[in-house]
Amino acid sequence: MDLFEYQGKEFFAQYGIPVSPGALVHSPDEAVAAAERLGYPVVVKAQVQVGGRGKAGGIKLAADADETRRHAASILGMDIKGHRVEQLWIERASDIAAEYYASFTLDRLAKQYLGMLSARGGVDIEQVAAEDPGAIARILVDPVEGLSEPRCREWVVAAGLDPAATEGAVEVLLKLYRAYVDGDADLVEINPLILTTDGRVRALDAKVSLDANSVFRHPEYKTYDATQVRDARERAAHERGLQYVGLEGEVGVIANGAGLAMATVDIVHQVGGRPANFLDIGGGASADVMAGALEVITSDPNVRSILINIFGGITKGEEVANGIVTALGRVEIDAPIVIRLDGTNADQGREILRPHLSERLELAPTMLDAARRAVELAGGARGAEPAPGGGGGERR
Ligand code: GDP
Ligand code: MN
Repeated sequence: MDLFEYQGKEFFAQYGIPVSPGALVHSPDEAVAAAERLGYPVVVKAQVQVGGRGKAGGIKLAADADETRRHAASILGMDIKGHRVEQLWIERASDIAAEYYASFTLDRLAKQYLGMLSARGGVDIEQVAAEDPGAIARILVDPVEGLSEPRCREWVVAAGLDPAATEGAVEVLLKLYRAYVDGDADLVEINPLILTTDGRVRALDAKVSLDANSVFRHPEYKTYDATQVRDARERAAHERGLQYVGLEGEVGVIANGAGLAMATVDIVHQVGGRPANFLDIGGGASADVMAGALEVITSDPNVRSILINIFGGITKGEEVANGIVTALGRVEIDAPIVIRLDGTNADQGREILRPHLSERLELAPTMLDAARRAVELAGGARGAEPAPGGGGGERR
């Protein structure tokens, strides 16, 4: 779950990370009222879940009511990289002496938390990483050991911040670490983390992504879930309770089980195609779930073919096949479908599907065959298929 800046700052504040006082508003009138309460100068900030708002003109300083009204009116309704601005965050402006970058995320390879800190903040961190990787001080934190104050201090010193920022930065980073761990976040990023002209360290921006699977521990996260920005397909899937992730390709993917769904996405890539999505329909064989999955897939205008990859386990092949047949009768589908059905009672399942086969509905004997056929039906592979033995998939 990605948070808006104002939600990220609320999240930070709960862990004691200093942020500027502010208010969420939806109109120029509300913006002025908030600014009068907060005191000038204020910053008018577009609330969209995309970086680079400043460069796009979505962040403006205002010295008085007139300016606040003008900026609010021009930023509301603005399109920033495809995101329409519908809300503004008005906050008390800070006097900036220096802008830094700080974040925690997971390093999957190292199986540890990764902290990044840089004296070159306020700019795109990917750019810093590309131009001047030495300007980013990294630490790996063992989740069991945690981050000690002495280690945090060494990290801050290594990053080469202004010595006046050291104490404040250590304090903020220890709190940021707590927020990251206790808040079950996937990412916490402050860019810029500022040193003010009067020597304070404060979060001027907030990028937070929370683990949606932790909502049971944090019931209050439901309000964040309610404001999630989803594309139409993701909304449709969410309404139907499906595990769906939208991707950019042409082959719609339906599989049972997250592992198989990921493997299906991989194999579509392997044979030179591009998956349109990840979709796990879970266990069971209900026609409702399959129909819902097909509805979501067909709502994606990019989809040119559909690959249904089912491995019967506890759920038997004939139950799955009956579910598919019923669902196909209920959903209008333009794209051709390739089904791979294997596992428990796969033969009975295929017999049930056979009378329904046509040019628009094919059965494939293996996962690899099914992927190749689905990619072909979607318009063919984009590049050469990797040589046999290269990826290991040929032996399946
Ligand atoms: P982003 O462009 O989407 O990352 O939005 P930020 O919230 O990071 O703001 C972008 C830039 O606007 C910051 O790096 C600052 O230079 C500037 N800015 C934001 N808030 C303030 C403020 O309170 N005072 C001043 N002087 N500049 C600000
Ligand atoms: Mn920023």
